[in-house]
Amino acid sequence: MLYLDHAATTPLSPAARSAMAPYLEQEFGNPSGLYELGRRAQAAVDDARERIARALGAEAREIIFTSGGTESINAALLGISTAMRRAGIGRHVIVSAIEHHAGLHAAQTLEELGFDVTYIGCDREGFVDATEVLESVRPHTVLVSVMLANNEVGTLQPVQAIAECLRALHRRTGHRVFLHTDAVQAAGWLRLDVRELGVDALSLSAHKFGGPKGTGILYLRRATPFRPLLVGGGQEMQKRAGTENVAGIVGAAAALEEAVHEIPRHSPRVRELRELLRAELQRRIPHATFNGGPRDRSLPNILNVSFPDVESESLVMALDARGLCVSSGSACSNSTWEPSHVLLAMGVPIRLAVGAIRFSLGPNTTPEEVVEAARLTAEEVTRLRGSAASSWRPAVP
Ligand code: PLP
Repeated sequence: MLYLDHAATTPLSPAARSAMAPYLEQEFGNPSGLYELGRRAQAAVDDARERIARALGAEAREIIFTSGGTESINAALLGISTAMRRAGIGRHVIVSAIEHHAGLHAAQTLEELGFDVTYIGCDREGFVDATEVLESVRPHTVLVSVMLANNEVGTLQPVQAIAECLRALHRRTGHRVFLHTDAVQAAGWLRLDVRELGVDALSLSAHKFGGPKGTGILYLRRATPFRPLLVGGGQEMQKRAGTENVAGIVGAAAALEEAVHEIPRHSPRVRELRELLRAELQRRIPHATFNGGPRDRSLPNILNVSFPDVESESLVMALDARGLCVSSGSACSNSTWEPSHVLLAMGVPIRLAVGAIRFSLGPNTTPEEVVEAARLTAEEVTRLRGSAASSWRPAVP
């Protein structure tokens, strides 16, 4: 199997697996237990929290464990906004139109709860404009949420610039707007420092960087207003009730530390491989059209490409039959057949958007795999188009 869908999920890293093993076996205690077995589980959670905080430049008490990226994002958007409304401060939220559905649907839930939401578009390359975000701030705006790296086309968003604008606004007018970023795809590829980024909240999902599925991280800056999404026991400093997923948390910490440590080694190498893939596809497939921004303002590992007159689901299935795993648009929206909201927001014509597939490389991807993936893709595109590459002409020139 040739797996080029690391943006959908990654294999569990050996470091995460061995860190988790005791907590799946003999160390099964509930961290709330007062006896030794429980205290050991609590110590493991505390240790993981410290290490994750260190990897992100945060304080341990600013790290909340959740069930995944989706929950972290929902908790940030709903938790901060509803706390601000409860305090009578405002009910306007700004999100980018190219957020993952976790962010977009949380914003829609806020609308149902009576919030006003402004959706900020992007340019043709998939970049959100920081100035446009600032210009959309109203007197009652409480929260901005813009992802750090887009999961479909890999574009890096100006989160740091948005944070600076919001801080300047605060200094000038006293109006404090909180900032959340979905950094789910950035972890393991970019160094993440929450203070440098200037964000109040940041979401991560362990299975995107070699950790287990079902464990998420929410960084919530000290003193950020927050109303818990899940209530019950007092776990996670009263911010997320429910018995902790101890093994998942321990695995997330091991995976994040390893991924962060390996960034200088993996990122430049994988960026080169991504460019090799681009060149091979371009050379072998007429009218291959790449979606997304310049190579230095994108994640190293994502390549989104459209093949006119090829329907992406058919291509993904055909490639699967040849042993190559890639994604059509975003894996999380694969059950719906609508063209990607990200590509549409970028102004990609529908006939190209429905033919888009996403390759996402991993830290261990090799040049041989990339060349083989391009070869298989070229063969299947040619077959689906029903004519040889040399004689094929697009239906719409
Ligand atoms: N945000 C982004 C950018 C993603 O790519 C994903 C998953 O693909 C998520 C959030 C959701 O993460 P999870 O499925 O782990 O809840």
